[in-house]
Amino acid sequence: MRLVSHPVLCNYYVTYRCNATCSFCDIWEKPSPYVTLENAEENFKALKKLGVKVIDFTGGEPLLHQQLDQLLALAKKYGFITTVTTNTLLYPKQAEKLKGKIDMLHFSLDSPVREEHDASRGVKCFDSLKESIKIAKGLGERPDILFTVFEHNIDKIQQVYEEISQPDNLVLILNPVFEYSTVKTGEKLSENSLKKLLSWAKKKNVYLNEAFVELRKDGGNHIEEPVCLSGSTTIVISPENKLVLPCYHLGLEEIPLNGNLYDLYKSEKIQKLIAMEGRYKECEGCTVNCYMQPSFAVETNKYFWKALSSTLKYNYIKGTWKQLF
Ligand code: SF4
Ligand code: SF4
Repeated sequence: MRLVSHPVLCNYYVTYRCNATCSFCDIWEKPSPYVTLENAEENFKALKKLGVKVIDFTGGEPLLHQQLDQLLALAKKYGFITTVTTNTLLYPKQAEKLKGKIDMLHFSLDSPVREEHDASRGVKCFDSLKESIKIAKGLGERPDILFTVFEHNIDKIQQVYEEISQPDNLVLILNPVFEYSTVKTGEKLSENSLKKLLSWAKKKNVYLNEAFVELRKDGGNHIEEPVCLSGSTTIVISPENKLVLPCYHLGLEEIPLNGNLYDLYKSEKIQKLIAMEGRYKECEGCTVNCYMQPSFAVETNKYFWKALSSTLKYNYIKGTWKQLF
């Protein structure tokens, strides 16, 4: 049963540029402008009218946007829950002006070992992560550690938990890796690794969406009976101020917004494209977390029930659950 039929999330790509070159991501290879405040404000008004609750200011590296603080302040003015994920390289410099404007601040980490993390990111950013934690805590922020779990780093979770997240009482988000059309991330998580991952779900200050694990066990999204509701739950806006459908990762259609997001989204053309969510041939086996998370929150199927306890736990720890209703 569908519980919510309007979009709940906006993935707002403020730029595709990045100051890292992670091996499991190709976004940094794209040339890209930066979104403007003017376009953002027009779009925020439409997002509000469409029922969106959360805006994820993403990229690329969102902190490369010189006016990110102003974008966030504007989003807060319109009552959105805001989220930002950063590789932390620019956080120490910008922390002060970002303070209080990000409800869910995520610091990315791939290994508790400096050399391994820096190698994975293609730039030296382990020390910057450690410094960023200190600065954020000093400012009264509570960043989460976002750990992307691969076959090669799953055994490092314990060390991350003991040495990085727990000493500062931070939430450790465990995100199983996913592949998409142009990016291959190496070996898929084995059955044994999925089992290991699940053993973390109930630990203090750990967020693991158990539905992500279940989906992998089931072979991902199936186009005959899709569980992906990317288009109907999530609005994707590109740095060029275009609506991207059916999701960023497939990106089959890019339609200029021209200050008309609300009418465009409601148009027959867009609704027809949305109806194709999860049904393209490339959607077979898809496990892209960014779209599965909202998909599992709005329809009562087995993934909804698997995701529920972790969602409640996370929002309770972060204090954001009240804003969701
Ligand atoms: S920091 Fe993020 S956006 Fe940049 S290359 Fe790495 S994964 Fe991609
Ligand atoms: S199944 Fe995957 S690739 Fe297809 S629309 Fe959904 S998120 Fe995009």
